[in-house]
Amino acid sequence: MKGRVFEIREFTLHDGPGVRTTVFLKGCPLRCAWCHNPEGQRFEVETMRRRDGEEIPCGVDWEASALARELLINADIMLQSGGGVTFSGGEPLAQAEFVCEVSDLLHAHGIHLAIETSGHAPQEDFRSVVSRMDFVYQDLKHHDADAFRRWTGGDLALVLENVTWLRTSGVPFVFRVPLIPGVNDSAADRAALEALAAGAKVEWLPYNAAAGAKYPMLGRAYPLAKRGD
Ligand code: SF4
Repeated sequence: MKGRVFEIREFTLHDGPGVRTTVFLKGCPLRCAWCHNPEGQRFEVETMRRRDGEEIPCGVDWEASALARELLINADIMLQSGGGVTFSGGEPLAQAEFVCEVSDLLHAHGIHLAIETSGHAPQEDFRSVVSRMDFVYQDLKHHDADAFRRWTGGDLALVLENVTWLRTSGVPFVFRVPLIPGVNDSAADRAALEALAAGAKVEWLPYNAAAGAKYPMLGRAYPLAKRGD
């Protein structure tokens, strides 16, 4: 089957162990106000226009087998370094069947697989993809359902249901919290997020001050622009 990808980044060092290739899948059900990959949000193919006029196409359709072949070009260095492939986005779970097919092809070659996910996906999609992974980076964006809906457009209960299953799945994971000024970075917010993590490891990610950079290239306004970005 086919899936839509907006970037394949080779030799990444921060998306899991060893030397990795990160695949950015296009499309996401959320609209986080601080999203620094807005070209990954919409499912349709788009074009980013740089200031110098260069046009960058965002969204290429791949057959699962062709994508696996492309990723396996770096198999030797992945295997030697203890690295692998990381699925990111956008939201990779929004193309769950495609990710499963690519994952099975890669696992057959012994490739370590990781995923970066918001966890905002139907249970069956979350379970089928995550059970194929060797490691999960699970976002925790907010602890309060109203704030979660306000800042991401999503349903926190859906994420927490999936997190509950993740804890029992046996798949190693870490929570990642993007700390957004005025959204989830107060002492009370951090304490509530720690409580939600319930002893699991949490990586606190500093706010990316350049997060708004790509919005003008897509003809859109950065939702947090009024904060001075
Ligand atoms: S879940 Fe990720 S890709 Fe989707 S809107 Fe939020 S930050 Fe962007």
